[in-house]
This record gives sequence, C-alpha cells and structure tokens, in this order.
Amino acid sequence: MKVELLAYTPDADRVCAAAGKSCYSERPAHELLDSGDPDRVLGRIVGMGHHSVIEHAVFTFSVEGVSRSLTHQLVRHRIASFSQQSQRYVPLERPTYVVPRTVESDPERAEIYGSLMDAVWNAYNRLTELGVPAEDARYVLPNGCTTNITITMNARELLHFFSLRCCNRAQWEIREMADEMLRLCREVSPTIFEKAGPPCVRGPCPEGKLSCGKPRKPTG
Ligand SMILES: Cc1cc2nc3c(=O)[nH]c(=O)nc-3n(C[C@H](O)[C@H](O)[C@H](O)COP(=O)(O)OP(=O)(O)OC[C@H]3O[C@@H](n4cnc5c(N)ncnc54)[C@H](O)[C@@H]3O)c2cc1C
Repeated sequence: MKVELLAYTPDADRVCAAAGKSCYSERPAHELLDSGDPDRVLGRIVGMGHHSVIEHAVFTFSVEGVSRSLTHQLVRHRIASFSQQSQRYVPLERPTYVVPRTVESDPERAEIYGSLMDAVWNAYNRLTELGVPAEDARYVLPNGCTTNITITMNARELLHFFSLRCCNRAQWEIREMADEMLRLCREVSPTIFEKAGPPCVRGPCPEGKLSCGKPRKPTG
C-alpha cells in the first residue's frame, strides 16, 4: 500500500490554538495566531476533551493499492469524505489483489490463493468479452481486490479513527494504513496528534476481556 498526505490545513496547530484562544478572548482568532505558546494552549484544550477546536484542521490522504476489504471497514467512519476508484468505470482486466502475510508466507497457502485469483480474473475477463458490463462482471471480484481511495477527515475524526484503527484489535491492513496516516499527521501537526493512537498509549485499555494485553508503545 502507499499512503500520501495530499493536502492539509497549513499551520494546523497554530490555527486551532488561535480558534481555541478566541473563545476566551475579546480578540478574534487572526489576532491570536502568534499570542502565547500554541503547543501549551492546544495541549491543554485538547487534553480537556474540547475537541471541537481541532475540527478546523483538515487532512486529505491519497491511498493506493489497498484491498476492498480495508475500504469496506474504512467507509464505516461517517464523519469523513471518500472518493474511491470505481469498478464500473475502471475495468480491472489484470489480476490485482492484496496477499495477506499469513498466505504469502506458506507455498501451499499461496498456491491455493493465487490459483483462485487467476480463476476469478479469467471469469471476469470472459464475462466482459461476452458483453457483460464491468458493473456486473465485478460481482465475481474478491474482497482482496485492490483499490485506490482518497480520504478527508478533520483532526477530531482522525483522533477517533486512530483510537480505533491503530489498536492491535483492528484488522492488520487497516491498522497499517492508520499507523502510516498518523505518522504523516504528526510530521505536520505534532501538537494535535501528540497523544493520538489507541487508548493504551494514554491509559488503561477499554477493551476488557477482548484486550490484546500488549499495550502499543506511543509512536512518533
Ligand atoms: C476492532 C473493530 C471491530 C469491528 N467489528 C465490527 C463488526 O463486527 N461489525 C460491524 O458492523 N462493525 C464493526 N466495526 C465497525 C464499528 O462498529 C464502527 O462502525 C466503525 O469503527 C466506525 O466507528 P464510529 O461509528 O465510532 O465512528 P464514525 O462513524 O467515524 O463517527 C465518529 C463519531 O461520531 C459520532 N456519530 C457518528 N454518527 C453518529 C450517529 N448516527 N449517531 C450518533 N453519533 C454518531 C459517534 O460518537 C462516533 O463515534 C468494528 C470496528 C473495530 C475498530
């Protein structure tokens, strides 16, 4: 998979800190951009759980070569915007799919998996040759089929997303993507994302009996 940060609110930490400060000041946000220490102010406001302030920061990612299985989980996040490669308008003549490591690591598993994918794509191509439109032929394509997707989330939704999807309980592929998104966010907005990640990097795990028992180390 390839994850790129396509666009983001410039100076997000400062902008959100100014927005936060404007709630308690006679002055408007544009006059507060350089007043006080934005890291301290924002750290305090976000730490108190006043997360509406960080909705002013927006991040757009371009994600390439992930499975439809991943994107099916991803698009459950409703406070986000998505644009996904269409299987109606983009014909997928060549086999293009994700191979999980549990399959790739063993020749017998890899053979079972690969031969089924070959059969699937043979069926797909035969159906389209016989005049079946791509929008119908795609019904034979697997969950592992790769796709590209553009994601936009504000920082509040990203904190929530990282909390759920950087967790060891999240499925490995979406977790790898979330980890990379968090790394990219931290590069440009270190204060907002300082304590981002699964709940165990901030305190006790809320998963109860389902906890993995292996707290993740804070990254970044
Ligand atoms: C480890 C894991 C396992 C999962 N397993 C399953 C499963 O087996 N089956 C399944 O169906 N899903 C499963 N999910 C998906 C999960 O149930 C959520 O749909 C998904 O994580 C999106 O989270 P969300 O609804 O909190 O967040 P978002 O949609 O990103 O929304 C963010 C927040 O906005 C608020 N919000 C958004 N919409 C509403 C609304 N309509 N009403 C009130 N508040 C709202 C909520 O506070 C919500 O937390 C799983 C997720 C994880 C991380």
